[in-house]
Amino acid sequence: MSPGPGTRWIAGTGAASLKRWLVLRPDAFADSLSEVSLAGLRGLGMRGIIVDLDNTLVGYGRDDLMPADEAWIAQAKEAGFKIVLVSNNFTTRVVRIGDRLSVPTVSAALKPLPGGFLRALKLLGTPKSATVVVGDQLFTDVLGAKLVGLHSILTHPLVPHDWHGTKILRLLERLVLGRRSRRKAS
Ligand SMILES: [Mg+2]
Repeated sequence: MSPGPGTRWIAGTGAASLKRWLVLRPDAFADSLSEVSLAGLRGLGMRGIIVDLDNTLVGYGRDDLMPADEAWIAQAKEAGFKIVLVSNNFTTRVVRIGDRLSVPTVSAALKPLPGGFLRALKLLGTPKSATVVVGDQLFTDVLGAKLVGLHSILTHPLVPHDWHGTKILRLLERLVLGRRSRRKAS
C-alpha cells in the first residue's frame, strides 16, 4: 500500500518490527501535516489522530493556521477520523486553536510522559493500535507515542525557532536521526 506522496512508512515485521521498537524512530516521516496521506492512514487502519500544536499545526507561539493544514484537519474529520490536539503549551491558546478547528484539546500535556496521550486517547475513543501521533519532535511526540504504544509520524518543524529547551532536543534529534533522515520523504 502506498502511504502517499510526502510520507514514507518504515515497514517492519518480525525482527525488523522489534528493532523498530528498540530504536527511537518514527514509523514515518512527512514534510508537513498536510502531506500526511489520509488515505494512507485509513489503509493502515488508523482512526484517531493526535496532532501536536507548536511547529506542527502552527508556528511556535503563533495562532495563525496554514490554509493547507486547516483544510487537512477538515478533510480528516469529514473522512471520519477523530482528532485531538495535544500540546505541552498552556491552556488558553491551545483551546482557542482547538475551538477554531472544532477539535478537542489536551494542554500542558508534559510530553513525552504518557498522561497527556492517555487523556487524548479517552477523548478520541480509539484503540492504541488505531491511533497515530503526528508531531515535529522526536523526544516529545515520537518518544511519547512509543512509550504509550501509538504509531508516530515525524514532520519538519514549520518554523526554525523553538522554545529554548527545545533547541537542545533538536541537537539530540540530529544525533539520533542524522541530519538527512527527515528528508527521505522529500
Ligand atoms: Mg511541536
